Amino acid sequence: MESKKGRLFLCPTPIGNLEDITLRVLKVLKEVDVIAAEDTRVTKKLLNHYGIKKPLISYHEHNKDSKGEEIIKRLISGEDVALVSDAGTPGISDPGEDLIRAAIRENIDIVPLPGPSAFILALIVSGFSTRRFVFEGFLPKKEKEREKILEELSREKRTIIIYESPHRLVKTLRKIKDKMGNRNIVLARELTKFYEEIFRGSLEEALAKYQEEEPRGEFVVVIEGIKQEEELKGEAFFDIKKQALERVEEYIKNGMTKSQAIRRVSKEFNISKNEIYNDFHK
Ligand code: SAM
Repeated sequence: MESKKGRLFLCPTPIGNLEDITLRVLKVLKEVDVIAAEDTRVTKKLLNHYGIKKPLISYHEHNKDSKGEEIIKRLISGEDVALVSDAGTPGISDPGEDLIRAAIRENIDIVPLPGPSAFILALIVSGFSTRRFVFEGFLPKKEKEREKILEELSREKRTIIIYESPHRLVKTLRKIKDKMGNRNIVLARELTKFYEEIFRGSLEEALAKYQEEEPRGEFVVVIEGIKQEEELKGEAFFDIKKQALERVEEYIKNGMTKSQAIRRVSKEFNISKNEIYNDFHK
């Protein structure tokens, strides 16, 4: 009879504030046989804070092939393993995704646990549309690939989320402005930490700020998607606006106030409230 395999638990950890960890993640960290950690020093600090003693295996970008094999062998032999990243949710912009794929190939049970991830916090605090968004993680380091992706993203209607390191921030903001124009962006810095800061403004304003003061800490860049009216010109846009006005009338007939109806239709059609308001009064 085949012996029982262990389970791989995907355990999100705090992205700054040590209190942002769930009771369930703490329970799993106490109960597994071993913890695979991207940065063992960071994880030790967390475990010490919660009085947890557990063997750690280092698993990061530069040893992921050899250590990945060792972890899979342990899982096959019946050990339960918790995977934690440096911070946040394992598998999001870190080597965790390779281990997860290897575990899937070996038919190992994988248990994902909920918890913090920097991009979700940046998205919800941005004020941009959360209904449809695209998470790009880190842009490629190679100049050409970076340019190509930014070119593609310049036509993106959904809210765009990017991870960036402080020393590349200004260069990246300049490139985004070149490709996308002077869009509205949000820079979420040092989320959940003492120096947490949410900057809202245009790309030009962000550049002015960070050319003046050196960017420090960790950043998430959130970019507003292109608005329908900027993308569509002429006939097509006229038709969409006609439909939008009909929808406003319909909502008013069904009991909404004028401003409620305009707000709702603005979201549904991705057309600014002002534009709908002006047309409605023509
Ligand atoms: N797995 C992590 C997650 O779920 O968010 C992401 C790991 S990725 C290697 C690290 C990047 O996440 C940083 O360069 C930064 O862009 C973003 N990040 C992580 N912690 C952050 C924080 N406290 N505030 C802002 N951005 C953060």
